[in-house]
Amino acid sequence: MATTYNDLYMDIRQQLINNGISQPSLEAREIVSYVAGKTREEFFRDARIYVSEHVYRGSYELLERRLKGEPLAYIIGEWEFMGIPLDIDPSVLIPRVDTELLAEEAIKWLDGKKECRVLDLCTGSGCLGIAIAMNTPPDCRVVLADISKKALAVARRNIRRHGLTGRVACVLADATKPGSVSLGSFDLIVSNPPYIPSDDIMKLDPSVKNYEPHIALNGGDDGLRYFRYIASGYYPLLKRGAALMFECGIGQAQHVRDILLKNGYSDIRILKDTQGIERVVTCILE
Ligand code: GLN
Repeated sequence: MATTYNDLYMDIRQQLINNGISQPSLEAREIVSYVAGKTREEFFRDARIYVSEHVYRGSYELLERRLKGEPLAYIIGEWEFMGIPLDIDPSVLIPRVDTELLAEEAIKWLDGKKECRVLDLCTGSGCLGIAIAMNTPPDCRVVLADISKKALAVARRNIRRHGLTGRVACVLADATKPGSVSLGSFDLIVSNPPYIPSDDIMKLDPSVKNYEPHIALNGGDDGLRYFRYIASGYYPLLKRGAALMFECGIGQAQHVRDILLKNGYSDIRILKDTQGIERVVTCILE
């Protein structure tokens, strides 16, 4: 057998394409470099080197699991968000590219402001709060909150992984309960809460519904449960002039807007993602 890293990569990529996987180049590279224990740079550098039996067999084993529907992020225990590598396990949702819009909007809003306190509610892996911390000056402090202890353990690993222990903290919090005043007050609250209507969960792609945590997806009967709770329950924790920013699902933005208006927020903006879907709703507490 004389297979180079490049041959192996090309064949795995082709099989991913044949099976309709949406990011075949990325996934093929991740599979091979994970099995070989190589960084991305080492993988490209070694493209013409012959692979060992172990790497060859291991890569096809992972490919098989992937083609049965298991998300690659859970297989390799890692995924990137805004170019930041994060630890991931099945107790947290896999960070989506869609969510980068909310992170970017938050970072833009914080630009030029001093000593801000930011809360990331329903944080999961910590992707949003960590991306915000890594793209703001050190005087910006972030709190990551989640109801799941297992998710918080992942978020904590990611805080350590990126050397953020001095400015990013974790707290256990149920977003359906009023925010505890002991958390202090915030200049910005961001949240990508569970927002899939309960009855739609079974209609999701098998790689989502069979592997990702339903607690991170289930937004109640109409999918809007968490927007209602957070808009009212966290109102007292926002400073005057503070912002609240949500990610929402397809067709939900106008409803989220109504919820925010009813709760006394103003300057409501709706932003579209790269696919033209209304994905982010922002507002200010005047
Ligand atoms: N965007 C996710 C999905 O479509 C759902 C995320 C969420 O409920 N917050 O699977």
